Amino acid sequence: MQIYNTLSGKKEELKTIRPGEVRMYSCGPTVYSFAHIGNLRTYVFMDLLRRALKTDGYRLLGVMNITDVGHLTSDADAGEDKMEKAARQQKKTPLEIAAYYTNVFKEDVAALNISLPEIVPKATEHIPEMIAFVQGLMEKGYAYETDDGIYFDIARYGRYGVLSKLDLEEQIAGARVEVNDQKRHPADFALWKKAPKEHLQQWESPWGMGYPGWHIECSAMGRKYLGDTFDIHTGGVDHIPVHHENEIAQSTALLGHPAVNYWMHGEFMMVDNGKMSKSLGNTYTVADLRKENILPLSFRYFCLNAHYRNKINFTWDAIRAAQKAYIRLLEAVAANKNAPSDPSAEPMCEESLNAFFDAVNDDLNVPKALGYLWNLLRAGKTAKEIYDTALKMDAILGLDLDKGYQAPEEDIPQELLDKLARRTQARREKNWALSDRLRDEINAAGYAIADSPQGSTLVKK
Ligand code: AMP
Ligand code: ZN
Repeated sequence: MQIYNTLSGKKEELKTIRPGEVRMYSCGPTVYSFAHIGNLRTYVFMDLLRRALKTDGYRLLGVMNITDVGHLTSDADAGEDKMEKAARQQKKTPLEIAAYYTNVFKEDVAALNISLPEIVPKATEHIPEMIAFVQGLMEKGYAYETDDGIYFDIARYGRYGVLSKLDLEEQIAGARVEVNDQKRHPADFALWKKAPKEHLQQWESPWGMGYPGWHIECSAMGRKYLGDTFDIHTGGVDHIPVHHENEIAQSTALLGHPAVNYWMHGEFMMVDNGKMSKSLGNTYTVADLRKENILPLSFRYFCLNAHYRNKINFTWDAIRAAQKAYIRLLEAVAANKNAPSDPSAEPMCEESLNAFFDAVNDDLNVPKALGYLWNLLRAGKTAKEIYDTALKMDAILGLDLDKGYQAPEEDIPQELLDKLARRTQARREKNWALSDRLRDEINAAGYAIADSPQGSTLVKK
């Protein structure tokens, strides 16, 4: 399999450290709020990669963190902890906030047929590993203490910037760095923060009560579960210049060698050609899509139509068009489900399947792969073999192609449900005149009443 490595800036053949096994770390959500469709695009990318590796026969050991402490409102260590801020605003504890948004996240990814990695560790349950990592850096002279925390010494490390290819001065110019007199270099980043008394989440450490920096979480948990070197690390492109550069610096400094061989990054999802932002009110969630009658898997289909290294632009017109195409796809596959076998379709199916997997193995060219499925469905034949081939492709696509399309049941108006309840009551009271009148009203509104021993329901006529 060929994959694009941000480190080398090239597509490379994947060579794993352990034969037949891929160990992979994916930056996970900070659970202070709902995941938006941009975040979810990045997890669709992670899921496609995992499915492709599995289909190629690799065993997978994947880790995706849940960040429930330490991610400040700016990725570059400035501002307030996002969890603390949400807890204060919603008058809850940080753990309650984390539990709520983690659950919603798990429901959202499940609705998108994203299967989570094998291990999904929480940052707050790995504080000792993080402290040990920071201690190691202190002992090796790569970290120093200030009044407000422990910082990584970028000048002492000397190799900062291998991923983003920016030199330090460019990095600093691009980042909004808060003034901190005690930092040796403006881009030195926090490994550990000392906690003011009012800080809700804090743990004992050799440097007093405090909490971990966000970047150390990924390095410490990756090391714990995947070892000192592992194969792939994924995330969104926004993490290249700060978060992943910091992960590389602290791991390489501690271990004496890089921890990760391949860095892979998913491009951004834009909305109306601009950035998604809370202030513009365009950080849509799965729930927002549902409110507009967009199926979660229509969103997945929308994501599959762009290569993961290209930007996608979300508009309501574009997602509605994707939903139409997705429903056509489900129907086209279903048309072959009960079709008789046709051996003359076999060569065409085999050719399509090979072309499909060649595209997937070429740095996850899923849009191209999807094109082969469409070509097969439009080739003018109907055959069981075509159905079977589509399902083999669905091992990568994850679009529930075996389920067909069922138009969602229309919501029954509340007013009619109230009438049905009143009719049930009237019948219980043997008030036949009232129950007949309510039945007639319900019928006149276009619904029939289905009575059964379990109760009565309404069916559209
Ligand atoms: P966060 O919870 O902010 O750490 O983000 C979770 C993941 O979503 C990270 O891998 C980010 O790089 C990614 N991400 C954030 N915004 C977008 C976006 N607009 N499009 C695609 N991925 C994004
Ligand atoms: Zn991370």
